[in-house]
Amino acid sequence: MPAADAALSPVPFFTQAASFDRAWPDVRAHLLDVLDRGKFSHGAKVGELERALARWTGARHAVAVNSGTDALVLLLRAAGLAPGDEVVVPAYSFLATASAVELAGGVPVFADIEAGAHGLDPDTADAAVTARTRAIMPAHLFDRLADLRGLAAVARRRGVTLLEDSAEAIGMRLDGRHAGLLGAGGVLSFFPSKTLGAIGDAGAVLTDDDALADAVRALRHHGRRGATLDDPAAISAATVLPGVNSKADDVQAAVLLAKLARLDADLARRAELAARYDARLRGVPGVRRVPGDAPVHPGGNRVVYVYLVEVDDRDALAAHLAARGIGTEVYYPVPLPLQPCFAHLGHRPGDFPRAEAACAAALALPLYPDLPDAAADRVCDEIERFYLGRAR
Ligand SMILES: *Cc1c(COP(=O)(O)O)cnc(C)c1O
Repeated sequence: MPAADAALSPVPFFTQAASFDRAWPDVRAHLLDVLDRGKFSHGAKVGELERALARWTGARHAVAVNSGTDALVLLLRAAGLAPGDEVVVPAYSFLATASAVELAGGVPVFADIEAGAHGLDPDTADAAVTARTRAIMPAHLFDRLADLRGLAAVARRRGVTLLEDSAEAIGMRLDGRHAGLLGAGGVLSFFPSKTLGAIGDAGAVLTDDDALADAVRALRHHGRRGATLDDPAAISAATVLPGVNSKADDVQAAVLLAKLARLDADLARRAELAARYDARLRGVPGVRRVPGDAPVHPGGNRVVYVYLVEVDDRDALAAHLAARGIGTEVYYPVPLPLQPCFAHLGHRPGDFPRAEAACAAALALPLYPDLPDAAADRVCDEIERFYLGRAR
């Protein structure tokens, strides 16, 4: 498209339309497989996806379920969470990090994030541990792992289980070990906008623990042990646990298999775009710090799921961009302890100052493999125009 048009065309916060143009021959082949077989729930394509995910992440088990949220709930239940057990979670994350704990019968206990980073702070997590604490569950947000070494040390010292909300963290590794595998288990979300996105909802539990994986396999299928419906010999008729229906969908598995084959290239393109944003936005007045200038924890890598800047006058900047056809999102708008659904826990503004400050300043910019360089440049032009225009 001519440069003049590119300069004016809208920049959606997220779309994966173009990635289907590229991946279509593979998507089609996997989908035809599913259609020919005629099994659309918990079938052979789901089994194929689980094996491919296990290979890609190095997990002993990848157990596919129908969302990242279900993966968290089933992970917590499979890890043996008992009614009233406490789980220490970050005050700043997606809602599901904490709501999954309540859905699994536990009590979320919030702890603040690190100064200058978005992960659960090991010292505040340590201070939140009580005699009822069963687990610590950090979330790995946006482009890096939480301080897993520090958090694993706290979990070890306090004798509690380390679980990971690694829903956003496909590709993130500590010393080569994939997110979700540093403690007892973790999850992946395949919500469409995630780094590996389906065309609907899907998720998975990752673990190296055979018993935990078996328990999740049972819980996702009404409490029955076994692999997939295409392998009936492996499905026991005996209901061993009160389970739910969180079977994964073969159509989503087909799409995910095709996209998994392109994941390394997609991650490289994400890194390229993030570096482009970093270079353009570094030093722009009003942009407090670009993500690339914040160090990752030792042994960790940087994998950009969300490109999140902290800025002055966030809401005014978002409105300026929206008026020019540029989509942004606020990750996350309200600290979890102040969400109405957790009002019964009795927290007040001021209890988690770092989480509150992050919520007030965070703005996510468009970043996905199909975003053209010119679109990222246009976003940067408008951000500069906003702040420089006001500085005059
Ligand atoms: C996306 C996400 C989830 C939930 O995943 P869904 O597949 O949308 O249910 C949980 N935790 C975090 C941190 C997430 O980003």
